[in-house]
Amino acid sequence: MNRYTIVIHGGAGTILKEDMTPELEEAYENGLEEALTAGYGVLERGGSAVNAIKAALVLLEDNVLFNAGRGSVFTKKGVQEMDAAIMDGSTLAAGAVASIRNVRNPIELATEVMRNSNHVFLSGKGANDFAIKQGIKLEPDEYFFSQFRYDQWKAIRDSDSYSLDHTHQRLEELMKDKKFGTVGAVALDAQGNIAAATSTGGMTNKKYGRIGDSPVIGAGTYANNKTCGISCTGHGEMFIRSVAAYDVSCLMEYKGLSLQEAMEVVVNDKLVKMGGEGGMIGVDSAGNAAMVLNSAGMYRGLKSSDGQHVTAIYK
Ligand code: ASP
Repeated sequence: MNRYTIVIHGGAGTILKEDMTPELEEAYENGLEEALTAGYGVLERGGSAVNAIKAALVLLEDNVLFNAGRGSVFTKKGVQEMDAAIMDGSTLAAGAVASIRNVRNPIELATEVMRNSNHVFLSGKGANDFAIKQGIKLEPDEYFFSQFRYDQWKAIRDSDSYSLDHTHQRLEELMKDKKFGTVGAVALDAQGNIAAATSTGGMTNKKYGRIGDSPVIGAGTYANNKTCGISCTGHGEMFIRSVAAYDVSCLMEYKGLSLQEAMEVVVNDKLVKMGGEGGMIGVDSAGNAAMVLNSAGMYRGLKSSDGQHVTAIYK
């Protein structure tokens, strides 16, 4: 049997130990551990990489601590609009959804798009109609509410977060407190297939139907058995402009870089130069995993059949 591996993230950003209580730290660690165990369990039973990452992401989406599914951030209008994508590296099949509402597990809907539609990317009301048609579980607005995200939003809802007035103390504090709580998972299964997925509520106070990198194939999410699988988290606009996930795959395919080397180039050189804060996780076709970040922290974890098992938060 080949080596199998799963790696997950719960978002990157200015995550500092001094801002964390031991209880909160433990809650995050537990959330990561629970998702890793579920995803790894699928791989251990001979399941596919697609099913493994889906199992991990459903738990992270259900966990109110992370900005995906339940606990998603608020838009300018005070609602949750979620984005998600999944890609199967064995076939290059992909499914993605953007600006969806009330879908309990956006990753389930993205997978449904990949498996049971003729399309790759659905958005807004149409995507919600497809969810209803396919019998995907919906929840009322209250289900997605979290006090923490509400307070975050309340502090900036009357501002334009993209043209910050840095003399404004509260805004400055809030931007210093940048945390991107998106969730993602990448796995290589025992059959040698790679898959990657990402799910998010996007960025607090987003407006005009803003969509980040997470559901954009090649930007926030990409998988190809020939090279690697990647899931990103961070300031989405920069990840879209740098086609971050696909760039890692290209650096491996065309330049012969290792997964770790390619991720370092994209995260710690290209993205840094354009002010793109965040990080990414990846697995290559040999089962090597990497987690690279240019921000102060990234909730992350890794478990593989050769005995590696870690979770980490800070850089
Ligand atoms: N990348 C996500 C976005 O821009 C945010 C995040 O990673 O938390 O929508």
